[in-house]
Amino acid sequence: MMVKTIALLGHKDHGKSTLIGNMLMLTGSATKVRIKEAEEYSKRLHKAFEPAFILDSFAEERLNEMTIDTTRAEIKHKDLAFAFIDVPGHEELIKNMISGASYGDVALLLVSAKKDEGIRDQTKRHLFIARMLGIDKLIVAVNKMDTVGYKETTFNDVKAGLLKYIERIGFEKGKVHFIPVSAYKGDNLVKRSKNTKWYRGMTLIDAVYENAKQEGRKQDGPLRIITQGVLEGGHVVGRVVSGEIRVGERVSVLPAGVEATVKEITVKGKRVKKADAGLNVAIKIDKNIATELRGAVISGNKNKPKLLSKIKAKIFVTGKIGNNLSVKVNGIEIKCKSLKVLGSIDVTTGERSSKKRIELLGAIEAEVVLEKKIPVEDYETTRELGRFVLYSSREFAGICTVGK
Ligand code: GDP
Repeated sequence: MMVKTIALLGHKDHGKSTLIGNMLMLTGSATKVRIKEAEEYSKRLHKAFEPAFILDSFAEERLNEMTIDTTRAEIKHKDLAFAFIDVPGHEELIKNMISGASYGDVALLLVSAKKDEGIRDQTKRHLFIARMLGIDKLIVAVNKMDTVGYKETTFNDVKAGLLKYIERIGFEKGKVHFIPVSAYKGDNLVKRSKNTKWYRGMTLIDAVYENAKQEGRKQDGPLRIITQGVLEGGHVVGRVVSGEIRVGERVSVLPAGVEATVKEITVKGKRVKKADAGLNVAIKIDKNIATELRGAVISGNKNKPKLLSKIKAKIFVTGKIGNNLSVKVNGIEIKCKSLKVLGSIDVTTGERSSKKRIELLGAIEAEVVLEKKIPVEDYETTRELGRFVLYSSREFAGICTVGK
């Protein structure tokens, strides 16, 4: 069964563990033993049944501290399994990004509709970074609907409060689902709830399934391979991040600017005629390329990414941006000649201003000039060619995305 990872976002106490626990139960993914343990544990604490305890098989050892062990919490539905990765704060998001971990491109955000909970600035900042890190499919579960009498107006208020922001930070409206749920009672998790007759959309599990199914599908895009190096015998190894490559095709290698014909394609040790997005390939082309082949880009010879040294980017500031700047993109480091701040973006409203000040954990728009040209594309077009990490005197200073 294919496992899809899904980033789980949301403020503490808005119901993440409860939601995952209940989904495990309602989809039949939790064992009877685990459910019984959770029942007994709830009883011992003189509490009503807490679905969140299903997540924790050693619940007794963690009386005061609930932690989500996401690696074990796999929720199965139809032909897919979902591993929800809890991302408690932006630090974790960023740390994981730098270490190369991937969250896939689907996120589930929980926002509690309960009085005095609702949308927080921290939630928005979290979402802002998630978007910069490549998440473009978003499901918003408006939780604890049972505490507000399942009122449509409360749901609509939460939705309206987030929708504008979500659009402003670059999510497509049509790709965001809002679902009224009660993680605790189970409404709209896997079955439509009678308590929300006014709601006509998908259940949470269906929304997760539909989004995860499309995840990583880049076959329609232009051919882009990011290379990792050359093997003995001249095979260039890399990953197809968009489009497909075929034997006999004319390709271009950037930044070298060399054109060549594909002679052989190997995937997992087998010779193939073509390879799709998502695969690691070793290819043989009819030219020897003298330049370094790490972080180079292979594309079709017509539809190529641009070679640029002057890049307009959005930067989420994570450290001091001082002297000695460099960027790292696809494993290669390039020195910056200059960085000019063009304006700021308020990460809690998504609004832009002409303010030129750089603030920690804020975002700016900037023009970055590199010492040499690299293949670049808008982040929206090819994520892998439109995203880089900024360093200042070797210290991590920001994450950057190219384009609007
Ligand atoms: P987390 O910190 O986001 O993992 O939140 P928890 O899942 O631990 O939930 C925090 C508290 O909210 C717990 O006491 C839950 O029982 C409660 N809770 C979670 N979801 C719901 C819900 O849908 N309705 C109600 N009434 N309480 C909920």
